[in-house]
Order: sequence, then structure tokens, then C-alpha cells
Amino acid sequence: MKNYDENNIFNKILRNEIECEKIQENQDNLSFNDINKQAPVHVLTIPKNKYANFNSFAENASDKEICSFFRSVLEVAEKMKIKDSGFRIIINCGPDSNQEVPHLHAHVLGGKNLGSILG
Ligand code: 5GP
Repeated sequence: MKNYDENNIFNKILRNEIECEKIQENQDNLSFNDINKQAPVHVLTIPKNKYANFNSFAENASDKEICSFFRSVLEVAEKMKIKDSGFRIIINCGPDSNQEVPHLHAHVLGGKNLGSILG
């Protein structure tokens, strides 16, 4: 994929070069605990295909991939028992969002009342 940094940390996780605490996995996506939790539940869901950010994903991914990605987030919420108590999905994209890792990821946060959206 154009403009994709092969050496980003999440691609290393996908290549099994770096360990992660896996929460959920299927053919299209992998979900694992964030190394620096911002809430009792803080899971990252990433597609296995190489998309640097949300723009690239929304522009280039198939309908199946996009659907599968959000279904994986739902599975994470179910597995972490936050589906009914509530949760927040954050996708940072680009410089103003301070996106650190250039491989699309959704933060799935919950397990307590998360307060206002920008904290
Ligand atoms: P961003 O700012 O790009 O939206 O979020 C990147 C997230 O990746 C941060 O919350 C950070 O804690 C997490 N992270 C960075 N490096 C690693 C790592 O090696 N393993 C895991 N599990 N999470 C990481």
C-alpha cells in the first residue's frame, strides 16, 4: 500500500516480531491490549491489511474489510463485557489528532465512565 511504513510497531506485531496481549483475532483483524492503558479496558483493533490511517482505509478497503473491522470492535466490546455498560471508539488520523502509529487502529475504551469526549 502506498505511503505505508513497513516498520511501524503494529506491522511488527502482525509479523510476530513484537508480542501483544491478544484479545480477538480473525482473518481480517487483530485486537490487543494497549501497552499504555488510558481506561480499565483499552484495546486496539487493527486491520491485517496495510492501511496507514483512516483516510487510506475508508478510501481503499473493501466493503467486507470495513464491515469486518467494525464487527471486530463489537466482538471486543462483547468479550471485554463493556458492550452494555458503554464504551468509546477513537480513531486518530493525521497530524492534528497526534496519531502516533501509522497503521490504522481503533482505540476501544471502557470499564468506567469516560467523562467528556476530550477529557
Ligand atoms: P495513536 O496515538 O497512534 O492513536 O495510538 C497509538 C497507541 O499505540 C497508543 O495508545 C500506545 O500506547 C499504543 N502502543 C504503542 N506502542 C505499542 C506497543 O508496542 N504495543 C501495544 N500493545 N501498544 C502500543
